[in-house]
Amino acid sequence: MKTYKIACIPGDGIGKEVVPAGQEVLQALAVASSRFTFDFESFGWGGDWYRAHGEMMPKNGLDALRNKDAILFGSAGDPDIPDHITLWGLRLKICQGFDQYANVRPTRILPGIESPLKRCTRDDLNWVIVRENSEGEYSGVGGRAHQGHPIEVATDVCMMTRVGVERIMRFAFRLAQSRPRKLLTVVTKSNAQRHAMVMWDEIALQISKEFPDVTWDKILVDACTDRMVNRPASLDTLVATNLHADVLSDLAAALAGSLGIAPTGNIDPERRYPSMFEPIHGSAFDIMGKGLANPIGTFWSCVMLLEHVGETEAAQTLMAAIERVTANPALHTGDLGGRATTVQVTQAVCAAVSR
Ligand code: ATP
Repeated sequence: MKTYKIACIPGDGIGKEVVPAGQEVLQALAVASSRFTFDFESFGWGGDWYRAHGEMMPKNGLDALRNKDAILFGSAGDPDIPDHITLWGLRLKICQGFDQYANVRPTRILPGIESPLKRCTRDDLNWVIVRENSEGEYSGVGGRAHQGHPIEVATDVCMMTRVGVERIMRFAFRLAQSRPRKLLTVVTKSNAQRHAMVMWDEIALQISKEFPDVTWDKILVDACTDRMVNRPASLDTLVATNLHADVLSDLAAALAGSLGIAPTGNIDPERRYPSMFEPIHGSAFDIMGKGLANPIGTFWSCVMLLEHVGETEAAQTLMAAIERVTANPALHTGDLGGRATTVQVTQAVCAAVSR
């Protein structure tokens, strides 16, 4: 029997509620399949760890994760610690340390869930956003000088490399090619950003030649927001920079019904390191500790994790279970206008996979 070694990092806020829920669902799947098991190891890194140790995770923390098959992550964010410390000290340290350069964000309107778009049917909105996850606007290149003085200066340099753009474009074209519509939209801003984004466009054209069966187009990021709202069916796979995709994928999640549902995978396509799966929502302090967090985003992330390790059938079983549960409004959490708790949704999904 195959055993998958999974690192669990709940992190902060509702991450501490949804990650254990994800483990429960994975465990129920393993029992139901009796073909594989999970060996979970949990790491208590995040805000509390920072208060105790002065860092979000240990310096050699990546070594503890290196031999895992995958990582299930919750969220990083603490009301008492600046956001750039929580983000760079944990999530980005793992994403960058393991060169998880492709961030994949599927969006669909699940059964029983209403989109705020009144003319949008479930068939109209079925997207995957590919986010460049290793450089661009979030490369960390920049600095501050003369702090506190009138001549203070601060820069965040958007750094793009040919290697970085070529590999994310190739990944996006390949993903688009694997989907029925074989349709890719390259999001850009090369009218205003006339260096890096022009190279981005040139490389898109170059890589497109390797994929003659993929239909592709290019759109400015501002126009893309309009197209997502008014012509959702014209989109299928999208590729965008780190910042652009960050914003577009929150819009996508909202258009599909709630931030609480949306999953993501931080993937190292070359499989040199473990990939990391997480809901796209943050720590949501307003609802933490109340048992109200929607765990569906984490469960859908578990579907992506299962696909990544090659358990396609189990991934399909879990996705079908999620859809059976969302179809029932009595099992909707508060973000979807319902009254169900994290525990009730988790139990319902566990029961559905065990059927
Ligand atoms: P961060 O700064 O860590 O990104 P945040 O609290 O600013 O976190 P999110 O957690 O991403 O932002 O979400 C914003 C709001 O959406 C939350 O305050 C919460 O009310 C709601 N929300 C997000 N995720 C969920 C969820 N899984 N279940 C229910 N509500 C959610």
